[in-house]
This record gives sequence, C-alpha cells and structure tokens, in this order.
Amino acid sequence: MTKKPFFFVVDDDAVTRLMLCRFLEQLGYVTLGLTNGQEALSALENGLPDVVLLDASMPIMDGFETLAIMQSRPDSKNIPVLMITGLNDDDSVDEAYAAGAVDFIPKPIHWAMLRNRVRYLLKDIEAERQINLASIVYDNTSEGIVVTNAKGIIQSVNPAFSIITGYFPEEVIGKSMNLVSSGRHNRAFYKKFWESLMVSGRWQGEFWNRRKDGAVFPQWVTVSAVKGADGQCTNYVGVFSDLSALKESEANLLYLSGHDTLTDLPNRHLFQERLALALTESKERDGGVCVMLLDLDRFKVVNETLGHDKGDDLLVRVGRRLSKCLTQPSTLGRMGGDEFGVIIPRFNHSQDAARIASAMLESLKKPFPIDGEEVEFFIGASIGIGLAPSDGEDVKTLLKSADAAMYHAKEQGRNNFQFYRNDLNTASMARMLMESSLRSALEKEEFVLYYQPQMDLSSGKLVGAEALIRWIHPMQGTISPGEFIPLAEETGLIVPMGEWALRTACKQMKKWSKAGLPSIRVAVNLSGIQFKQPDFTDVVFKIIKETGIEHRWLELELTESIAMGDVEETFHKLNALAENNIPLAIDDFGTGFSSLSYLKRFPFGTLKIDRSFVRNCPQDAEDAALVRTIIGLANSLGLTVIAEGVEEEVQLEFLRKHNCNEIQGYFYSRPIPAKEFANFIKNNPVMMDED
Ligand code: C2E
Ligand code: CA
Ligand code: CA
Repeated sequence: MTKKPFFFVVDDDAVTRLMLCRFLEQLGYVTLGLTNGQEALSALENGLPDVVLLDASMPIMDGFETLAIMQSRPDSKNIPVLMITGLNDDDSVDEAYAAGAVDFIPKPIHWAMLRNRVRYLLKDIEAERQINLASIVYDNTSEGIVVTNAKGIIQSVNPAFSIITGYFPEEVIGKSMNLVSSGRHNRAFYKKFWESLMVSGRWQGEFWNRRKDGAVFPQWVTVSAVKGADGQCTNYVGVFSDLSALKESEANLLYLSGHDTLTDLPNRHLFQERLALALTESKERDGGVCVMLLDLDRFKVVNETLGHDKGDDLLVRVGRRLSKCLTQPSTLGRMGGDEFGVIIPRFNHSQDAARIASAMLESLKKPFPIDGEEVEFFIGASIGIGLAPSDGEDVKTLLKSADAAMYHAKEQGRNNFQFYRNDLNTASMARMLMESSLRSALEKEEFVLYYQPQMDLSSGKLVGAEALIRWIHPMQGTISPGEFIPLAEETGLIVPMGEWALRTACKQMKKWSKAGLPSIRVAVNLSGIQFKQPDFTDVVFKIIKETGIEHRWLELELTESIAMGDVEETFHKLNALAENNIPLAIDDFGTGFSSLSYLKRFPFGTLKIDRSFVRNCPQDAEDAALVRTIIGLANSLGLTVIAEGVEEEVQLEFLRKHNCNEIQGYFYSRPIPAKEFANFIKNNPVMMDED
C-alpha cells in the first residue's frame, strides 16, 4: 500500500479506545479516535477511513445504527466495518453480520486476534487496489491486449489494440481471433502454437497479423492461458507489442544485465537500475535508501608506477574487500575507473551508514601485497553518502548529492566519509567519539550506580531501590543512560556493562549490610540483549555467590521485549531465576502492548507502570483510566504494582486511592549516589519482614 491504512476507532470507553489506537499505531497505521456514532458520521466528511472499528453499544448512537447509516451513503457504503461486540453471544454476532459488518471482535479484546483480523482485511483491500491498478495498466499500456474465451472468441480488447489493428472494440468483441489473422502461418505453425499453450500455458513468438485496412504486419506476441479453479482453461490473454521496439529493449536488457567484466560487479547501468528500483520501493514503504560513492585515493599512483595490470588486479581485490563489509540486500557496483558505489535499500538510520562506511575504510587499511614486488601497497578511499528522500528522491539527484559529499570527503584530507547533509556529519562525529570513549569507560571506571528509593504507599516505608547507571565522563560530566544505553546495545558493550552493574549493586548491598543498615530489595535493570546471552542465568548466580547476598534482595527488571523471540528459552531462564527466589519485575509496562494475561504466564512478581502514563495523571482522563485499569488487573493477578515517575502529591493521592502498592519518583527522591542513599536508609523507616 502506498499510504498508511487509516482507521476510525469508534468506542465510548476511553481505555479501550486509547488502547486500540495505540495498538493500531504500533502496527504502523493511522488512527482517529471517536466517542460515538454521530461523531464518526461527521468525521466521514473530513476524509474516508480504510477501515472502521465500531463498538456495538454506545450512547447517543450505537454501532448498528451507525453502520446502517454508513451503508445508506454512497461514499461510505464500501468501507469495511469491524464490529466490537461487548456481548459475546451468537445473537449479537449474527446481528453484526446482518447489519453488514465484515467481521467482529469480541470484548475483552484479544490483541493477537485483532491484529490478524485487521491484517486479513487489509489484504483484501490491497487486492482490490491491485485489480484497479491492473485495469489502469490495461487501459494505458502501449501494448495491445486481447482477452478471448476458451474457444478463441474475443471478450475484450484494450485501447492500444484498437490503435494497432484499427478495429474498435464493438467491431471485434464476440468475433473469432481469425478476424485479425494474416493467413501467413501454416498448419504446422498453429500445431506448435496450440501444443505450447496446452503444455506450458504460454506461447511466445513472432506473429503476423492483419490490420483492418488489410495491411499485414509482424508483432511480438505473448499468449497465456488463464485457468479456473478447476484447472480448466477459461480464457486466453494475448499481448502484442511492436517488434522493432522490442528488439531495441532486448538489446538494452542485455546491456543492463552486463556486469563489469573486470570485477564482476554490477556496472553503472545496472547500479542505476537497482537504485531506481530501491527508490520506488522505498516510496511505497515510506522508507529511505542510502547511496555511497567511494573513490580510491591513491589509485592513479598505482597505475602509473606499477602498470595497468597490477592496477586492475588491485581493483578486483578492493571490490572483494568492500563486498565483505556489506550484507544482503545491498548492492556494490563499479561505477567506472576507481570509483565504486553502494546501495543500501530499506534504510532507516544514518548511523548504519556511518558504521558501514567506516567498516569499508577499515577494510582498505590493511596493506595490499603486490605480486612479484617487494613493496606492499596502501590505499585509502573517500566516501560520499547521500540519503533518500532528504538528499534527493530520484537517481540523478541522489547520485549528485553523494558525489558532492565524496568531493567534500576528498577536501577533508581523504580516507574519510562525509554525508551530504552537514548536520549528519556532526552527529556521526559525535557518535563516533562517544562510541570510542564508551569502549574505554569500563576499564577507566567511569560508571557509577545511583539508587532511587521505592516506597510502600500504605505505610510510607522504604521497601527498595532501583539501581540506575550513570557515566561520569571526564570532559562532559554526568551522562544519563538514555544517551548511551542504545549505543551500548548496538555495539554489544551492554553485556559487560550490564554485568558490571549487577555486580556493583550486589557488592553495594553487602557493604550496606556490613555497615549495619537494614536490608532492602535492590532492582537492577537488564537489557534484552543481556538476557538473551546463553550464559545469562549462570552469570547472575555466579555474582550472587561471589558477593554473598541473599537471593530475595536482588530484583531483576526486564521489559516486555523479552517476551518476544524464543519464548521457550525465555520461560526456561525466568523460571530458573524465580525458582531460586530471585524477584522479577516487568519494567515500562504499557509501552509494549503485551497483554497482562499473556505476561501472567511468566513468573513476574512485580509490575512497573511506565512513567509516561503516570506523568499526566490524574489530569489526563485517558491516562488516568489506563493506570486505573492496569492497577486493577495487576492486583487481581496477584502482582505487586509500582508506579514510576511520581513527582507530585496529586499523583500520589490518585495512586493511593486506586490501590497502587508502591511508588518511585522525584516526589520522594531523585536517584542518588550510594553514600547519600545510605543516609536515606538511616533517615527513613524501612519495611521489615515482620511488617
Ligand atoms: P527506567 O528503568 O524506566 O528508569 C526510570 C527512569 O525514570 C530513570 O531515568 C529515573 O531517573 C527516571 N525517573 C524516576 N523518577 C522520576 C520522576 O519522578 N520524574 C522524572 N522525570 N523521571 C524520573 P534514568 O536513570 O535516566 O534511566 C533511563 C533508563 O536507562 C532506565 O529507564 C533504564 O531503562 C535504563 N537503564 C538505567 N540503568 C541501567 C542499567 O544498569 N542497565 C540497563 N540495561 N539499563 C539501564
Ligand atoms: Ca527500570
Ligand atoms: Ca520504566
């Protein structure tokens, strides 16, 4: 689909409506939330949706009445409606179908079912668009198209057929194909023709036809048999094209398929063709494409001093090294001379381009030994990067941008890469600096853990702490994890870093207890990548043993993302931890759309409501309703609920009123260093086993 599917979500219940909208947006769709049928009908004036999700029972105007009115209006009568029935009985389901709904979703909403039904529906809509597209092609192509029935009687012809043959549709429809035959082909020819059609369902070749004015002319014809569901031929479709035009494009095709003979890489023409394809595809997906042009820095010297043979040999080896830096579906091409090009279709992040470009530069840094020579050769490259759509939406503009960037790279003193857009150069420079200092931060002991208290709401006592990592950068001061965790995850540094955090938190607990402070639970955050390491649970148990803390004081915080991927493996690991009395908390709940009943299958004891929902409570009615619902559900499943990011008294009161168990936030304290936290423990009553 070229544009994002657009949904009306009509439901009077704020929580359901909000969750539905967020869910659909997560799937990449556009939504408009509406509270009743009347609102939906007036919203139709501003633009028609692709699908309507319609609650059956609503005040003011219910789903059935709304659907009836939609069906009476020509503009909305074909819009598919999914009815949401709170009443999961056969009658209301029947009633929904009778009213013209294409499908129904029972409440409470089963998210996986909704996703499947929506996708199924959109597939239908897409198929219809394809048919429309096919009919546009049919009407507008320059090739003549004729459709006959199984007996060769003409059923339909396109406008180009009329132009080529001189016959109007009404003159040929219902007549036999013999009408246009030239009489030039003998029986042996027709025998072959039918044999091929019967056996392979297709015939292709040169065919002489006769125009209305009697002129006989050669055409390139493709005839395909169309089969019905029973395998019997129902129609034949013939496509005629001008032979001379085809001859030309045939030559063109051969040219295009030609790879560069030296390096065996796609040549400039094929490269441009692929780029054009990638651009078209990216527009359909609303995505990006990355193009790089790479020019070798000292190639001329090689050619001049060692001769062309050695130069050619070097180009081949450069091509091989470069292609090792790329993965499917990227294209590496030779643009000519010592210039190479790279296409990365389905491209999203400029950092990926920076990483690939540095990998390519790195791969050329090793010397190239030259056959039969004492010397080794060093060669560098300058890379220019252009990104679609920002730096150009067509082949020519985009290549021009990449080229300009490449010259910029040469000016910068060679052996570097440059983006066309300068802000990206600055950003990628900052990132590379951060990446290299992040790599050494662990050894240089630049990380520390801060601790943020977690309070029991009913007693006001301290129950635990969350350990949050900070990077004390020698130049930039304290950097918060939001800025470096994603980079650490991408580079894999998160694994040793996470292990460090786990060990440090455990050591700290031991220190506090040696200092005579009462024990509290300390929660450590885990990245999904860390959790997926095969030896993850071993590492946890090893650290606990090493530091000698009690299992029950170390809580592990995991996000919903771990529930995706290998579920077996996840179960196995979580159970191993839970069976050993290590408390598990589900972090950032509400942002990942896993349903609580699904999560309940995993041995979590605590659920943390994400700060983004708490932030606007209780002023924002939808967020407040959502928080209330989450607390209610979690309580009923026996989970301890902790709300994050509580900053104000009103939020605290709201959460207390709705039976939230624990809270964490600036209201009590920001995350603070271990020393300060020791004072916090001293100055606050602590929840004890006997409480
Ligand atoms: P998170 O797990 O959701 O942690 C809560 C974040 O909310 C912390 O940000 C905390 O400082 C902040 N916060 C707590 N109360 C309030 C409040 O009342 N108001 C506001 N505005 N913010 C509040 P922080 O420390 O910047 O951490 C950000 C994220 O970094 C964490 O989000 C967590 O996902 C990740 N993270 C932190 N430490 C680690 C770690 O050791 N390992 C891993 N893998 N991730 C970590
Ligand atoms: Ca957390
Ligand atoms: Ca959180």
